[in-house]
Amino acid sequence: MSRNLGIGLAVAGGAGLAWYEGWLSTIIDGPETAGSGPGTATGRLSALDPQFRARAEMVAAAMLLKGYRPRALETYRDPTRQAYYQSQGWSHTSQSFHNIKPAYAIDVVADGITSSDFAALAEFYKALRDAAPTFGLRSGGSYTPITGNTWAQFGLGWDPGHLEPASADHISPAQIIAGVSPW
Ligand SMILES: [Zn+2]
Repeated sequence: MSRNLGIGLAVAGGAGLAWYEGWLSTIIDGPETAGSGPGTATGRLSALDPQFRARAEMVAAAMLLKGYRPRALETYRDPTRQAYYQSQGWSHTSQSFHNIKPAYAIDVVADGITSSDFAALAEFYKALRDAAPTFGLRSGGSYTPITGNTWAQFGLGWDPGHLEPASADHISPAQIIAGVSPW
């Protein structure tokens, strides 16, 4: 199996991310337009809250040392897209950390691992789950496994590619929007 272990330069998007210019990004940037359905979603790292992004980059750096390279799928999505994902059962909430602008959640996949190789992906997701708490984050792989879900057979929660603040168990997206720090 070959994995892309290259390191690309982070490209700063908005003015709020100016401090990020010149940093090495350990996550492969996602597409400007991500997913499908009503509303909008992006996979751009520039759509993330800068401190959330810095923490996610450190998780990814720990992954890199294990030979893995996360690739961004989705970062920010608007409320319309969120409602659609919830209606499809792909999300379990009407307001997610993806819906904060800038976003406090990212969905990643493993660059270089085919999407049908569940055993290899599970190892990647376990490494992601285990690396996240060191940097104040948690992955959806730490959620309670749902019987019958693909990832349950590997002891993983139902959303193993999702990263959000570790405080998500007691601080809601609405509280962050209202100014409460998740850190
Ligand atoms: Zn997610």
